[in-house]
Amino acid sequence: MQNVDPAQRPRHAVAWHEDAPNPSSAATPPSEPLPTSVDWIVIGGGFSGLSAARRAAERGARVLLLEKGELRDGASSRNGGMVHVGFGASTSSIIKIFGADGAREWFDLSRAGVRRIQQLAAAGPEGLISSTGIDPSWSETGHLELARSARGAADLQGEAELRASLGLPVRLLNFGCKCNH
Ligand SMILES: Cc1cc2nc3c(=O)[nH]c(=O)nc-3n(C[C@H](O)[C@H](O)[C@H](O)COP(=O)(O)OP(=O)(O)OC[C@H]3O[C@@H](n4cnc5c(N)ncnc54)[C@H](O)[C@@H]3O)c2cc1C
Repeated sequence: MQNVDPAQRPRHAVAWHEDAPNPSSAATPPSEPLPTSVDWIVIGGGFSGLSAARRAAERGARVLLLEKGELRDGASSRNGGMVHVGFGASTSSIIKIFGADGAREWFDLSRAGVRRIQQLAAAGPEGLISSTGIDPSWSETGHLELARSARGAADLQGEAELRASLGLPVRLLNFGCKCNH
């Protein structure tokens, strides 16, 4: 971004568009004719599509994955690589929509997702290294959420209590807040 003429900058610049290669502008033609008959067609070669396609293929299905550009084009090739149980929504909003039992089920799904990634990251016969040669550099470091204001700290405390009430292993650390808002 620093070398870009400010007048040329898009009004809503996105940092990860600058740091990662631009999405390909044109689709790569398939190197061989597409199969005429498959069990599953998966559209989109990001984590969601690749994971669904891999899972179906592991179970013996004939899968065709269609990607409009290159596999690196979506968010999946640009993310921070962090994996943890939880969602991009507060636990209270999840409970509000699905109830406590529903929220527990969502968190169980999320835990299963993390376990699946752990299993893929392992070097066993089903692991990524043995099946693709890709070393995902898995490292279990735990997951820390920080508040940057007194209000945020209060919200985090409420969030931690709710997660504990759903049986999630959570520990609240209090380092004291030096902020005045
Ligand atoms: C900067 C950034 C950091 C992030 N950090 C994290 C993180 O640390 N941890 C985390 O868990 N999540 C993180 N995320 C979120 C995570 O990356 C996304 O939730 C995830 O990659 C979404 O995967 P996806 O497969 O649904 O979508 P995408 O990865 O976007 O893939 C969608 C694919 O579908 C293709 N496509 C779209 N339309 C069509 C069509 N009509 N036909 C064929 N193909 C099509 C696209 O070209 C693309 O390749 C981050 C996201 C960003 C942007």
